[in-house]
Amino acid sequence: MEAPAVRDVAPGIVVVNEEDQICATWILHQGRSCFVVEMPPKAVDGYTIPAELVLRCIEERGLTPVGLVFSHAHWDHIDGVATYWDALTDFPEMKLICHESAIEIAPKLKTFFDTVFSDDAYETNIEGEPLYLIHAPKHSASDLMIVFRGTMLTGDWWLGWGDPNPGKVPPATSIKSVDRILGFLRNHRYVVTRLFSVHANDFRYDVNAEAILLETRRYHEMKLAQEKG
Ligand SMILES: [Zn+2]
Repeated sequence: MEAPAVRDVAPGIVVVNEEDQICATWILHQGRSCFVVEMPPKAVDGYTIPAELVLRCIEERGLTPVGLVFSHAHWDHIDGVATYWDALTDFPEMKLICHESAIEIAPKLKTFFDTVFSDDAYETNIEGEPLYLIHAPKHSASDLMIVFRGTMLTGDWWLGWGDPNPGKVPPATSIKSVDRILGFLRNHRYVVTRLFSVHANDFRYDVNAEAILLETRRYHEMKLAQEKG
C-alpha cells in the first residue's frame, strides 16, 4: 500500500510529501511514463529521503521516469540532487532539464543536468501530452512555471496581491514574467485551471489563471510605480 504521503491531486499529478520533507516532490504522469519535479534534500533530523520515497511510488505504480526538472535553484528544491541521481539514473530515458539561470546560481547542477535551455520556454511532452517549462523570474532569477495537463506548478511564487520578494527581483522583471506566461498560454491556446505551489501548501482548483496572473501583475506595477516615486 502506498504511504499516506502520496496523494493524487489532479489528473496526471501526484504529490509525494512526507511530514519531514522540506519541499514536496511531484510526479507528472501520462500513460506509463512520468517526470519527477523537485529534488529536496533529507531534512535535518528528518528520516525521509524524498528521492527514495518518490522512486518507491513510481515503482508501485509501474511508471517509467523519463525526466527530472525543478522549479528553481534554491537549496530546499535542489540539494537532494545526488540522491535523485542515484535513485533515477538506472532509467536510460531520463532527461535532466533545467534553465541556464539555475546553473548560474548553482553551478554544481552542471554535473547532473544534460539538457540546459536558455530560451524563454522549453516544450516537451510525456507520451504526447504537452509539458511546458516557462522561465518566469519573480521569486528567484531561475523560476520555472511547470505546465502539465491543465495544472501549473507555480514554484514559490506569491500569487495575487503582495510578495515578500526575498530575492529582490525587480518589479519590471516580475511583470515581464507574468506577460511571458500569459503570452505563452494564449499562443498555445492552453487553459490552466489549477495552480499549485510546489511546497504543496497552496492548491487552487477551478481558477481563472489569467485573472490571478493579471492581479499579480497589478501588484508589481504598483511596486514599479513606487520605485519610480
Ligand atoms: Zn522553496
